[in-house]
Amino acid sequence: MHYNSLNHQSPIVDFKTATIKGQAPDKGLYFPEYIPKFPVGFIDNINIYSKEEIAFTAIQPFVGDSIPAIVLEQIVAETVNFNFPLVKVTDQISSLELFHGPTLAFKDVGARFMSRCLGYFVQGNNQPITVLVATSGDTGGAVASGFYDVEGVNVVILYPSGKVSSVQELQLTTLGKNIKAIEVEGNFDDCQNMVKQAFADEALNKALFLTSANSINVARWLPQQFYYLYAYQQWVDKTNHPVICVPSGNFGNICAGLVAHLQGLPIKHFIAAVNSNDSVAKYIANGLYQSQQAVSTISNAMDVGNPSNFIRILELFGNEYPVIKNIMSSYSISDDETKATLKRVNENTGYLTDPHGAVAFAALEKYLHIHSLEKGIFLETAHPVKFYDVVEPIIGQKVEVPISIKEILEKEKISVKMKAEYGLLKEYLIEEN
Ligand SMILES: *Cc1c(COP(=O)(O)O)cnc(C)c1O
Repeated sequence: MHYNSLNHQSPIVDFKTATIKGQAPDKGLYFPEYIPKFPVGFIDNINIYSKEEIAFTAIQPFVGDSIPAIVLEQIVAETVNFNFPLVKVTDQISSLELFHGPTLAFKDVGARFMSRCLGYFVQGNNQPITVLVATSGDTGGAVASGFYDVEGVNVVILYPSGKVSSVQELQLTTLGKNIKAIEVEGNFDDCQNMVKQAFADEALNKALFLTSANSINVARWLPQQFYYLYAYQQWVDKTNHPVICVPSGNFGNICAGLVAHLQGLPIKHFIAAVNSNDSVAKYIANGLYQSQQAVSTISNAMDVGNPSNFIRILELFGNEYPVIKNIMSSYSISDDETKATLKRVNENTGYLTDPHGAVAFAALEKYLHIHSLEKGIFLETAHPVKFYDVVEPIIGQKVEVPISIKEILEKEKISVKMKAEYGLLKEYLIEEN
């Protein structure tokens, strides 16, 4: 499999190069040169396959010759070594729980897969690779956990001091070993700018082998297909295919679902649930796309004004607005509606969602209201405890703390405090390596 840059000004590359580089030299996103089809009988017989076999079958064509099958089997097995249960919430609505990984959010799968691929690619290099990443919350924890103890890879995570939840901060700062956390005295944009300056600094890039672990990397994007296959495997009524609703920010997750669908996975319809950051919802409504300034909401992992993966969705469907509108709907849900939904679902069904899951639940309900014979799945992308500061006041009670979080709450935070100045980051990176 080869990958083209969507800006079309860079040479085609294999999976290995696309993973190491992250972004093409012309700043475009890498995109597979074709979308394969699942093997004959794979979907019809999906119930007989293990989750490892499903993941391997889905990802192998995209990896191609870059990783031998026996190594890829091992990588895939370590990527999906937790559960992805489909839980019935109402007669019409089920939840696909994607929060059973080590950092309790769905980004674990992409981060675990990418880290292990990079670890394989740098084997035998005499220079370690440094993964530099800015985080507003969930990405940092998933990347820290995914890359922890991967040989030949150092990780430096920048996060805005005082602006991530306490659980998120502990997930970044308590691992040690090859994971370093820098606490920037500024906001997320400051962190992001420092990282961007590092990538643009030629002298630094001569001295260090730098790469990024952000969500546009194909090795983080493509394994997210697995969720949709696991959802379908657990779907009982295979004669009435589900609609799937995805809480979306950068649109990487839903875009991976659309890739699975184009390979032959029977999903009746996709719904992109967004908060007040509604540039894609507006596009679906009227065919015009305009990027926005991001606004803050209680589902903060989706506070994205100009989703980077939207261009991949356009590409998947040849930029045909009517085709996209036919396969995907989108609903924007306000914070008030999110809170009301979270509370109501908890009271009526006993099921507790996190704020992102509540946005998806509300959007799915709206769709099913006008398509009353259909049934749907929403992706529950994070455990509610990750957002207990938002969730507890809404439901008026404590959220149960899972064991993995209890352990982390007792650990000691280790971070380097830094003013938001690129010169300081550069000094640090050169000294540490
Ligand atoms: C990152 C994230 C999202 C958004 O996923 P995209 O792939 O960026 O659309 C949704 N929910 C949670 C909890 C997240 O961490």
